[in-house]
Amino acid sequence: MIPKECKRLAEVDFPIAEVSRHAAREKSIRHGHPSTLHLWWARRPLAACRAMLLGLLWPDPCDPHCPGEFRQKARQLLPGVPGRVGPTDEDLRKALLKFIAGFANWDLSKNRNYLEVSRALIKAAHGDEPPLVVDPFAGGGSIPLEALRLGCETFASDLNPVACLILKVMLEDIPRQGPELAAELRRVGGEIKRQAEQALAELYPRDPDGAVPIAYLWARTVRCESPNCGAEIPLMRSFWLCRKANRRRALRYKVVKGGPPRVEFEIFAPKSDKEVPGGTVTRAKATCLCCNRVLLPDRVRVQLAGQRGGADVVFDSKGNRIGGARMLAVVTLQPDIQGRNYRLPTGRDYEAVWKAQKGLKEILDEWERGGKKGLCPVPDEPTPAGGGSGAGRAFSVQRYGMLQWGDLFTARQKVALATLVDHVSILKEQAITASQEMLSIVINRCADYWSSLCSWHLTGEKVNHTFGRQALPMIWDYCEVFPFSDSSGN
Ligand SMILES: [Zn+2]
Repeated sequence: MIPKECKRLAEVDFPIAEVSRHAAREKSIRHGHPSTLHLWWARRPLAACRAMLLGLLWPDPCDPHCPGEFRQKARQLLPGVPGRVGPTDEDLRKALLKFIAGFANWDLSKNRNYLEVSRALIKAAHGDEPPLVVDPFAGGGSIPLEALRLGCETFASDLNPVACLILKVMLEDIPRQGPELAAELRRVGGEIKRQAEQALAELYPRDPDGAVPIAYLWARTVRCESPNCGAEIPLMRSFWLCRKANRRRALRYKVVKGGPPRVEFEIFAPKSDKEVPGGTVTRAKATCLCCNRVLLPDRVRVQLAGQRGGADVVFDSKGNRIGGARMLAVVTLQPDIQGRNYRLPTGRDYEAVWKAQKGLKEILDEWERGGKKGLCPVPDEPTPAGGGSGAGRAFSVQRYGMLQWGDLFTARQKVALATLVDHVSILKEQAITASQEMLSIVINRCADYWSSLCSWHLTGEKVNHTFGRQALPMIWDYCEVFPFSDSSGN
């Protein structure tokens, strides 16, 4: 055991420059990194956690109270990893710091030699009973994960249930069950995907020519309030659909008179940027395409608040669209043709949305009939208040009437998510707990990609997820993806 009076290595020195360099590099690594398991805020690089844990768990060999066994073991083991160790205690300290700096490298994080030496030296310092590392606010779990890998006993907790789910999966399920869990997850997940795809088939119809719609591009709408106009203004940040060098597509419009004015769209391949109209909305100021008058931000917000954010189509009793969100274009994949195709929406596309709205009502009615047991199938908790200054500015959705989390999603997205939740919840009754937890994580990722705050990536031709930054900003024209495509967001 390290006596109380003995300084820990991190109290006297720490290879901060090298660890920083490794930590910065680690941040750009996505493939195979535990942080990709689930989105979490302010993730600490594993490199920094591993290095600091060793610095805190190992004693300073120059301290007179340092256990002799630790010095001896370090002299014995270190030459095998970072190289030769000089004769003095100072030399030993240098070698330990060099080891810590080297082990911060992502490429060596799974290296057996480094792991074994780390564990052996922790044991030499602490005795046979492994030290307990406690992280009461563990968040994404970088510290407890590294502590476990270094052979410590670990206790991790968090106030946020999402963080707890991440911790449970990463620190308990995966280490306990290993590769078998991956096999079970593929099996159970595949089965759920098959069932959900079947259950949702009529909400995502194929085109009559066999093309598969992979994304629906939408605009929220408001009404022009200038006298004698009253036209619908689709709120569009841009008229571009695709800005790839080899495929440039955009919308252009014409105003149709006779009755209240309205706009009709057309898809074309612009030869120069000048042919593409500018957007209709900047900083919440909307410009009417029919009379060119401006609708001020306050009015835009009031009108959208009246539609709970405006992500849903408003239909009459026969299923004809009379307002709300307007579909601008549908992105499809055609059999035997490479690349994405852009077409205008048809009645079939809106019919599927109408069916989704009826399906959603059915889901909510059933919950009410059952006495509203458990959580509402559509999250009805309040969204974060904000829109003021400081941190609150990150959350502007309440200003547009998205007062509950459910308001962030279209009816079809809600049905899709509720269907997945249903299928995954059943696993709990069947005691397939670990896969159930991992699939909950999958649903969370789906929710990130299936909200009305996802925009369309104009050059990547793919959906951007909700939390591109740590905020919930208004997205005027958003993208709704087909959940079972082979493209991103599936
Ligand atoms: Zn107008």
